[in-house]
Amino acid sequence: MKRFVSLMLALIIALLPQAAFATAPGMPASVPEDLNIDWNARYTFAELEQQMKAIADSCPEISEMYEIGRTWQERALWCVELTNEAVPNENKTGIGVFANIHGGERESASSAMYFMWWLALNAKDPYVADLLDRYVVYVVPVINPDGYEQSFVINTRQNMRPRDLNGDGVPFSDPYTDINGDGYISYLFAGAADDDISWLKDASSIYALYRDERYQQNYIGRESPDWDKNGILADDPRNSGIDMNRTFDYQWNRFDIETVGSESGVIGANAFANAGPAPASEPEIQAVQNFLIKKDIDALATLHTGIQCVLYPWCYKPFDESDEELVQMKAVSERMAAAFQQTTGRGFYTKSSYEDYPTSAEMIDYAYGRLNIHAYTIEVYSAGKSGNIEDCLWENELPAATVQYYSADEVAAMGLDLASLGKADAEGVWFYTTGSDQMVNKAPEEQDVMVEGCRDALLKMIEAEPFGQGKTVPEWLK
Ligand SMILES: [Zn+2]
Repeated sequence: MKRFVSLMLALIIALLPQAAFATAPGMPASVPEDLNIDWNARYTFAELEQQMKAIADSCPEISEMYEIGRTWQERALWCVELTNEAVPNENKTGIGVFANIHGGERESASSAMYFMWWLALNAKDPYVADLLDRYVVYVVPVINPDGYEQSFVINTRQNMRPRDLNGDGVPFSDPYTDINGDGYISYLFAGAADDDISWLKDASSIYALYRDERYQQNYIGRESPDWDKNGILADDPRNSGIDMNRTFDYQWNRFDIETVGSESGVIGANAFANAGPAPASEPEIQAVQNFLIKKDIDALATLHTGIQCVLYPWCYKPFDESDEELVQMKAVSERMAAAFQQTTGRGFYTKSSYEDYPTSAEMIDYAYGRLNIHAYTIEVYSAGKSGNIEDCLWENELPAATVQYYSADEVAAMGLDLASLGKADAEGVWFYTTGSDQMVNKAPEEQDVMVEGCRDALLKMIEAEPFGQGKTVPEWLK
């Protein structure tokens, strides 16, 4: 009987159409204790390092973990490389997955971590085994670990190049600080215990309040004891002011009046003010660029959060229909977004990055423009609820904003001197904490579904490769 069954099985398998790819597996059949990761939790960078190490250690025959560089604060930029080492690399296609260039976008790091975990634990599955025979997958889950870690205090997009925003000769001398010990950074407003603060409580967002007279009269600043005692709260925070995804060494700050014209509205184009002092000025970006130059990578995805979509080049100029590889990238983006949408049940759209909004010196423009690597930006998460898939939201609600009152004596005990802040007469202070500020140490609900959606989008990118001319390195960069 046993023999008959195995014969039948062999026959069925032989009769199956030979597709290029088997079906991708779901959750691994068995998960070792130390790799039992809760994908709905938020982890510190040190915890991510432990997880990466545990993943790499679990499958030494297909993985290698190494540093590609260091940050301003000496955190390591880790890469986990996954491939079947028994097959020579020359015959393989290289794939890069890079995440979290923006420190606060930590769902992107989770998505990259999941992808590496899923590949490692499914290495014996026929689909994944075939993939690892034919591809080398490089996963760098956190490009900006300094910003990632600071985001446990307050959402921090930037890296940590030291800066001195208050000009007192000391970098980061008045950072955001949780003086009431609730774990969050609040907006502070002068007031009294019996004030009607429904205007604050019921505000749809902090942005909706900026023009409100009561906001303007009572706003003190963001939570800090005013370390530098200059009467302005948190005016030298722990961030560089640099958006590293505007600092790559390709078309750095190209948007002047002659190249784009005054009517286009893109002069500076969301780049100049935060693009750093020079192309590739940041150690993190130098590391990523050197890595891309050195490794044979045909396609890459850089993972972000904030919207839900797949973006393709260019960022610095409109889409070019005459570029066949670009046209193919657009088609692949559509398949990636469709896969993300199918797995998660949430909406995802596609656009050329320029059409989303013009920028310059982004990673995908560097990858494609400088090195001819096919490059995609995957935006994995947008908080909010509308019930309409076209709106491309995660369909979750953030916690309600909170307001907490403290008397003048109580805030004095927290180190706050109301007189020096121009509020000597205030009876006390209202601490207003937005829902998004309460998310600093939490993952969005159903992040476990998000990471699966991102995996399926990445698989569409991988299945499309190789196409086109492949990576090219200019002579002068070799
Ligand atoms: Zn981003």
